[in-house]
Amino acid sequence: MKILVINCGSSSLKYQLIDMEKEEALAKGLVERIGIDGSVLTQKVEGRDKYIIKQDMKDHKDAIRLVLKALVDKENGVIKDMNEISAVGHRVVHGGERYSQSVLIDDEVMKGLEECVKLAPLHNPPNIIGINACKTLMPNTPMVAVFDTAFHQTMPEKAFVYPLPYELYKDHAIRKYGFHGTSHKYVSQMAAKMMGKDLSELKIVTCHLGNGSSITAVDHGKSVETSMGFTPLEGLAMGTRSGSIDPAIATYLMQELNLTAEEVNTLLNKKSGAYGISGVSSDFRDIEDSAAEGNERAQLALDVFNYKVKKFIGSYVAVMNGVDCIVFTAGLGENSPETREDVCAGLGYLGVKLDLDKNKVRGKATEISTPDSKVKVFVIPTNEELMIARDTKALVCK
Ligand code: ADP
Repeated sequence: MKILVINCGSSSLKYQLIDMEKEEALAKGLVERIGIDGSVLTQKVEGRDKYIIKQDMKDHKDAIRLVLKALVDKENGVIKDMNEISAVGHRVVHGGERYSQSVLIDDEVMKGLEECVKLAPLHNPPNIIGINACKTLMPNTPMVAVFDTAFHQTMPEKAFVYPLPYELYKDHAIRKYGFHGTSHKYVSQMAAKMMGKDLSELKIVTCHLGNGSSITAVDHGKSVETSMGFTPLEGLAMGTRSGSIDPAIATYLMQELNLTAEEVNTLLNKKSGAYGISGVSSDFRDIEDSAAEGNERAQLALDVFNYKVKKFIGSYVAVMNGVDCIVFTAGLGENSPETREDVCAGLGYLGVKLDLDKNKVRGKATEISTPDSKVKVFVIPTNEELMIARDTKALVCK
C-alpha cells in the first residue's frame, strides 16, 4: 500500500509518497513559490539525482497536478500509475475541539475544517485548498485529515482552561490547544518501543525543539499538558517567537510605544525569541557559532532558551508525579549536543544522567543516558509524515 502525504502551506507544499509495507518514503518533494513567479518542484528519491521541474504554477491544483506527474514520470518517478496511490493523508494544523483524532474526509468534515479556520486563519486555509485540489484531481482516492492539535485533546480541563472570564472559552473557544501533536505522539511511541515497554506504563516528557518549539507531558500515552497554547506563540522561547511572557507587555507596547495590535503580533512572532535576544539570526546553528566566537548576546539567547526548556521539564515532571524518560526531537533537539547537555545539566536530582559521549549523536535514534540513569534520555528523529501515513492507513483500512 502506498500513501501520499501532503503538507500544504500558503505558497509551498511538501509531500512524501510512503510505502506502508516497509514504512519507507519512496519519494520526498517540495513545491515552492506556488502562485508566484519562479515556481519550482524538487523531488528526491534515495540514490538518485534531484528531479527539478521549473514551471509556473498558478495555484495548489497546478502544484498537485505536477506532484502526481513527477511521481509517475517514466525516468524520474517511482510509480507507474496514479492509481497505485491508495490514499492521501493531509496535515491540517488546527482541528479545534471538534477533532481529537484523525478523520476520513467527507463533506461533513470539510464543513468542520472551515469552522476551524477562525482559530488558525493563516494555516488552515492553505490546508483546505490542498485537500480540495487533491479531491478534484483524485476524486476516487480516500483522504484523511491529520491534525497538529488532535493529540492534545486529552488534556484535562484544568490544563487547557485559561484563568480568563469563562465566557471567553465557551463563546470564543479561547483555550489551550497545543501543536506539534503528530510529532509528540510519534516520538513518544518510538521511546516506548526503544524502552521495550508499553506506552501505558510510561511517563514521558517530549521536547520538540526546532524553529518552533514545544514540550509535552505524555502520561500513559496521553498528552496531559503541553507548552504551546491557543496559538503556537505560548510556551518556550523559539527561533523568532517570544514564548510565554507577561501578557501586560503587549498592552504596554501598544500604549507606551504606540504599536498597533498587528505590530505587536509581528514583534512577538517574528522579531523575538533567540533572534530577538541575540540579534544574530533565528537559526540556532548561527547563534551557536556566534556564541562560540564570544558574542555574549548570542550566548544569552542560548542560555534563555535552554533555561526555559529545563523549567518546563521540571514542571511537567511535577504534573505527572514522575518521569521515566525524556525525548529530544526536531532540528535542534536532534542535532545539538550542546543544547541537550545544558538542558539536562542539574537534572541529576530527578535521576537524569547523561552519557556525554553518546550525546554527541546527531539525527539518529539513540539512548543518550547512562545505563544506570534512572530516567532514560533519548534522541529520536521525528517523522510526522510517517505518523500521518499510519493514521491514514488505519482509517482507510478500517
Ligand atoms: P521547523 O520548526 O521549521 O520544522 P526544524 O525542526 O527543521 O524546524 O528545526 C530547524 C532549526 O533546527 C534550525 O533553525 C536550526 O536552528 C536547528 N538546527 C538544525 N540543525 C542543527 C545543528 N546541527 N545544530 C544546531 N541547531 C540545528
